[in-house]
Amino acid sequence: MSHKLQVGEMKAKYLTDKEIWGHFNYIFSSKSKNSTTYKFVLIKSILENLYNFNEKLEINYSTLFASFAKIYWNLVIHHNLNQINMTGKKAEVQKILLAVQSKYQIPNTLVFDKLSEELQVEIINKVKRKCKVNVMGAIYGDTACTIYDFDNQKEQLKLNSTFFSFMQRFQRVLNYLTNYHLALFLEKFNEKGDTTNLLLKVENVSRRSSLDQFYQVLSSYYNGKCFYCGKVIRKQHAHVDHFIPWSFVQADQLWNLVIACSACNLSKNDKLASKIFLEEIIDRNDKLLSIPELRKRGDMQVYTSKKLKDLYYYSRENGFTDIWTPKKIII
Ligand SMILES: [Zn+2]
Repeated sequence: MSHKLQVGEMKAKYLTDKEIWGHFNYIFSSKSKNSTTYKFVLIKSILENLYNFNEKLEINYSTLFASFAKIYWNLVIHHNLNQINMTGKKAEVQKILLAVQSKYQIPNTLVFDKLSEELQVEIINKVKRKCKVNVMGAIYGDTACTIYDFDNQKEQLKLNSTFFSFMQRFQRVLNYLTNYHLALFLEKFNEKGDTTNLLLKVENVSRRSSLDQFYQVLSSYYNGKCFYCGKVIRKQHAHVDHFIPWSFVQADQLWNLVIACSACNLSKNDKLASKIFLEEIIDRNDKLLSIPELRKRGDMQVYTSKKLKDLYYYSRENGFTDIWTPKKIII
């Protein structure tokens, strides 16, 4: 089968865990054609968007490739890492990004989220146009045409529901596995100097440098109190906290972010807040959804309270069993 296939339909409805593990084993093995890092970065992009799929388990390419382009910008420009298994050559995505960098004279120090919004959109569109042709058909072929439907014309992907459930249940280990294989590839085809702390670079390649833009949105609807302990906090001491830890979701969605005092934010760290806060954040999100301009946001459009409850449940299933509560709650 050609990896340049432009439309693909799922050839199976139900997949067992064993079959899906088999597909991942194949993708990560030397049997699969991995001349570039495309497949690893597509899997990372799907994992990062797991809670951005709609109820029919569909996602548009603009959302998916926003992650894909961001990850590549940070790997190629910020970390200077080659993405193809040949020295002296460059993967298509590298050529696109290096051309943009040179056109606007952007320094290597700038991570993707520091670029202007217009420039981000320009990069996402360029990367999407070029990479969808090679990327979408490749994983589809590697997994015996079972894990998703894709249509490069409509620019839409639809996940197999058993595959989606698998990804929810094994999200954490799939993240580790993908990062590990991506780092292994990069180590082989890069100069020694660039591969220092490689796994750490790969693990953090999706992380935003600042949550300021979310603070701006949240603070307009914020009562001046810490979401967890209720303490009145001054703006300069307010932190934006991922309710479900970032290390699990690997994404920033408004419905998963709250304003917390620094004591709560620092002591909560990578832990899951106790269940009473789950009910509270669901109420908070209902309030956000009643504001017309917030309802229009991409992340809020796909939000449902069930999604957040699922995320809470699956983060526990994935090993986030250390439950946190604030020291003292002020009512
Ligand atoms: Zn607090």
